[in-house]
Amino acid sequence: MLGSLRSIVQEVNAARDLPAVLEIIVRRVREVMHTRVCSVYLRDKQSGHYVLMATRGLNQDAVGQVHLAPGEGLVGNVVTREEPINLEQAEAHPAYQYFPSTGEERFSAFLGTPIIHHRNVLGVLVVQQAEKRRFDEGEEAFLVTLSAQLAGVIAHAEATGALAVIGQQRREAKFTGIAASPGVAIGRVHIVAPQANLATVPYSCCMDVEAELELFHEALTSAREEIREVGERLKDDLNREERALFDAYVAMLDDSSLAVEVCDRIRQQVSAPRAWAEVMLEHVRRFEAMSDSYFRDRAADVRDLGARVLMHLRQQQQSRRDYPENTILIGEELTAAVLAEVPREKLIGAVSVKGSANSHVAIIARAMGLPAVMGAQDLPYETIDGADIVVDGYRGELHVHPGAELRRRYDSIVAEERELARNLDHMASLPGETADGHRVRLWVNTGLMADVVRSLERGAEGVGLYRTEVPFLLRDRFPSEEEQREIYREQLQAFAPRPVTMRTLDIGGDKALTYFPIEETNPFLGWRGIRVTLDHPEIFLAQVRAMMKASVGLDNLRIMLPMISGLGELEAARKLLERAHRELVEEGYDIPMPPLGIMIEVPSAVYQVRELAEHSDFISVGSNDLTQYLLAVDRNNSRVANIYHALHPAVLRALQEIVRAGHAANTKVGICGELAGDPGGALLLVAMGYDVLSMNATNLPRVKATLRAVRKADTEKLLQQVLQMQCPEEIEETVRAYLKRIGLKALLQPAGGQ
Ligand code: PEP
Ligand code: MG
Repeated sequence: MLGSLRSIVQEVNAARDLPAVLEIIVRRVREVMHTRVCSVYLRDKQSGHYVLMATRGLNQDAVGQVHLAPGEGLVGNVVTREEPINLEQAEAHPAYQYFPSTGEERFSAFLGTPIIHHRNVLGVLVVQQAEKRRFDEGEEAFLVTLSAQLAGVIAHAEATGALAVIGQQRREAKFTGIAASPGVAIGRVHIVAPQANLATVPYSCCMDVEAELELFHEALTSAREEIREVGERLKDDLNREERALFDAYVAMLDDSSLAVEVCDRIRQQVSAPRAWAEVMLEHVRRFEAMSDSYFRDRAADVRDLGARVLMHLRQQQQSRRDYPENTILIGEELTAAVLAEVPREKLIGAVSVKGSANSHVAIIARAMGLPAVMGAQDLPYETIDGADIVVDGYRGELHVHPGAELRRRYDSIVAEERELARNLDHMASLPGETADGHRVRLWVNTGLMADVVRSLERGAEGVGLYRTEVPFLLRDRFPSEEEQREIYREQLQAFAPRPVTMRTLDIGGDKALTYFPIEETNPFLGWRGIRVTLDHPEIFLAQVRAMMKASVGLDNLRIMLPMISGLGELEAARKLLERAHRELVEEGYDIPMPPLGIMIEVPSAVYQVRELAEHSDFISVGSNDLTQYLLAVDRNNSRVANIYHALHPAVLRALQEIVRAGHAANTKVGICGELAGDPGGALLLVAMGYDVLSMNATNLPRVKATLRAVRKADTEKLLQQVLQMQCPEEIEETVRAYLKRIGLKALLQPAGGQ
């Protein structure tokens, strides 16, 4: 059964559109389960009814005609119950409804399973049999498993189908994801080339057939040259058989019948990557089905060759394109390095199919003031290259081919945003304090050089977190000690005499260096942050030496350690730091030992704050990681993004305990997670007594305006109120309502004329 399941899912994944997907499902399921009938019903978005979309075994005329409301008939009952219905004799069931057009009176046994995607019943998969008999447990389990696996594919195919129509008619289409960086961007899609995997090239049309043919031939030529070159280079190291493989590759690319097949498809307006993938996958399947094991093994070679050409196709596509004005970057999994590739003045928005609001790329987007939506799982992104799109980073919505009315609404939001930014301009020169004079240090988080200018313009009083991994992420090798010194010097100099808190390298998790790959099953619980650098003292020492050398004459450096889970790590790091300092002094540098602080972002550290604080010069809470670890919710996983709550009661209690224990040890306590940059979060943190709130420069004016509008005593009342609550959504709503009540609604989200 597992084999059949896999092969059905694979076939469905490679299908070109929704009708093809459904056709494969009904044909293959009927075959594998040996039933007389297999049908799929899907929900019609407009009517909410479930419509028979494909069948094998029922009359074809009924397709598109039979539809049932939720609760109506057996299919409608599967929908409302959200579980399978398995009947020996369908017509004996009280909910049974007879549709003469289907000819189903011939069938007695009925098994229907819901197809559920993100808690919504997309459709129902039904099998039927002529005789009176119950489908057995194994059959039921098979259909349930298959429905669960197919749900995502069907949702994607539905969306793609909608867009194929839209592609021709330019109809507006809406997709949802996770609101990851506030703001609205109206621009043009630029797709970041995904990996070269033949099986995941979605169907897309090409408008200019001649250009697409040319692209294909160029890619073929480059792939051929590359293979020849590699073969030539390795010829002395290869045996005869291996050399023959290279010749076979080239021969296959020279084979005109292959090219003809692909060109035929391109002439039918199929994009070159998709046409190539379809043809090559057919060849792969043909090889896989061969009885001779030698030929079966060649399937992998064909797949490899296919992937190579696909890569060239992607490269050609990429090199032919300039980034348009108002680029909205969309990719399967965006990274900081990819964002940095687009000239800043052209980039206005970002969308990632994978990831979540607390992924590092989302944090960088927020720091850049770039509206972003993450986790847009159902967006058939490859089919919309070059299309107009609206990115709504407040609601996590995307609108492809926006119409005039929608544009007007979003234009007014953009205008409102500009107005708000102008109104907040004067905040830069005002102190960060509450209406009753309680002073709070409002610092910034930095990483990119562009953050420095923005931070200074907005009146940053210091840097609470300089993410040193960002310059590491943007290179193709570790920066040398001298290169690091130069980068750090720029930061320290720009802010001097204000303090700059430099965090030692925090890689691992979703911050992967291409040149230092870390392959792990559970990266967020693995080799991350201080764990990596303590295991590699040469990396740690070079970095802290560079930091200290950079601070000569400025004396505004503070060093902070990420991911500390116990005193041992702090002590080991301190020893290394002291050694580096001693050696620099011996070399003649005149530098004081910088203050050393730690991040509290691992639950074990929460329970040791007192001891850790006694051994540190300052502490700063990394609420992004602390939330993920306390709630056991991967911050990078869009599937569980709805249960990631920085205002969860457990997180609030931990935050309060940290500041209490830190102050008991006479240590200043700050926070540099995203919560500090959220106006509502900032209110609660001030009430708890946090000394420093560090946030991205984009949020700084909003948070300052919020604090200046409230009295500390009132924030304390609000805190007491929310600490009584058990439900994170209720806490979030209470804080929002409070901000609205005190007249700060505009800081939350522009209304856009609504
Ligand atoms: C945090 O975890 O809150 C933090 C500030 O660090 P990062 O987001 O870089 O992991
Ligand atoms: Mg962290």
